[in-house]
Amino acid sequence: MKHRSIGSEFDKAGAGTKTVWGGEQVNHPYNATQVPIVASAAHSYDDVDHWYNVALGDASGFIYSRMGNPTVEALEAKLCALEDAQSAVAFSSGMAAISSVLYTFLSNGKRVVSTKDSYGGTNKIFEEFLPRMGVSVYLCETADHEAIEREIVRGCDVLYLETPTNPTLKIIDIKRLVKAAQSVGALVIADNTFATPLNQQPLSLGVDLVVHSATKFLSGHGDVLGGLVCGREALISQVRHYREINGATLDPFAAYMIIRGIKTLALRIRQQQASAQMIAEFLLTEPLVASVNYPGLPEHPNHPIACEQMTGFGAIVSFVVHGGMDTVKVLLPQLQYAHCAGNLGAVETIYGPARTTSHVENTLEERLALGISEGLVRISVGIEETDDLLNDLKQAFAAVRRQQQG
Ligand SMILES: *Cc1c(COP(=O)(O)O)cnc(C)c1O
Repeated sequence: MKHRSIGSEFDKAGAGTKTVWGGEQVNHPYNATQVPIVASAAHSYDDVDHWYNVALGDASGFIYSRMGNPTVEALEAKLCALEDAQSAVAFSSGMAAISSVLYTFLSNGKRVVSTKDSYGGTNKIFEEFLPRMGVSVYLCETADHEAIEREIVRGCDVLYLETPTNPTLKIIDIKRLVKAAQSVGALVIADNTFATPLNQQPLSLGVDLVVHSATKFLSGHGDVLGGLVCGREALISQVRHYREINGATLDPFAAYMIIRGIKTLALRIRQQQASAQMIAEFLLTEPLVASVNYPGLPEHPNHPIACEQMTGFGAIVSFVVHGGMDTVKVLLPQLQYAHCAGNLGAVETIYGPARTTSHVENTLEERLALGISEGLVRISVGIEETDDLLNDLKQAFAAVRRQQQG
């Protein structure tokens, strides 16, 4: 497949150029300018010998859509351009990508080290599914780097990291833990969904495999599910083999939606994180707010690590209100420019309490042990005008105050 985005000149292009041109092929059918949606379960060959060679992988081409599809491959090539990866493989959801990469590299007797604050579904894989395959899992306190290093040295086949975390925005020092993992020969996997490739490039920090929920910022419009894994071809070929057999393939229509979304990723992220910073700073001044989590605030305990390994602080902010769930129940319905929903990373601003969204599977005691109080609200900042979002939040807090006084 010929790509426009090959060569050292393109490697030097900025992120906003790579999102648009990365992985884009030349010579589409009918001279189309856009990646075609190839809705064909199988591909037909007149030459039986050529067909055989393609099936063996000795000639390029497509056989059956579970194995590979031109639209899905265009998306995989685009992610490679963004993460500066050799190879990528797409899945039907973020969880399909995460579970597949873990099942590819883990088996009976192996040990995973990770942190308590991983995404809820990932945490279920660790606590519910891997142990029954005979994989031992150890989950450390998320921001306790010494504890994670100690656990790695005790035995580790896979180190699984996620930073910033959901919903408390803790930051993990990737380079530091990669060093510990490499000293014992462990494979390092990082979930880069919250940061996006524009703000953080884990492969350049020594991580072996990067996973994404493309459902979030990559697609960016809250209208499609997808997941991706990228890294060295020697590793990705094993993940691709698992996908071929396991079958959690991405649909070509969904692949097209994600390709289209990625083209505006740089514009969206720039606007979203500029607003997120303003909103976080405003929340610090709001008397009804007890605490604010945003890695772009100098007050954030790991702000220096964030400055070191990220080029932007992202579009997710969380905060705790005084009065817990009673305050949350009054505040959220007052917001004009917000969905109250369980997803994130869309063009619209989205608010959600951790109790109902990221940690709905946990008991109150488990949430409190993770430092998630009942008054914790996550904001996924959208692309609306910053002033409108700030004014909306201000009028909602004013309404809470009126109700509390009245
Ligand atoms: C949403 C999310 C996932 C899971 O992705 P799905 O596309 O919903 O399966 C994994 N990791 C993080 C950080 C997420 O936010």
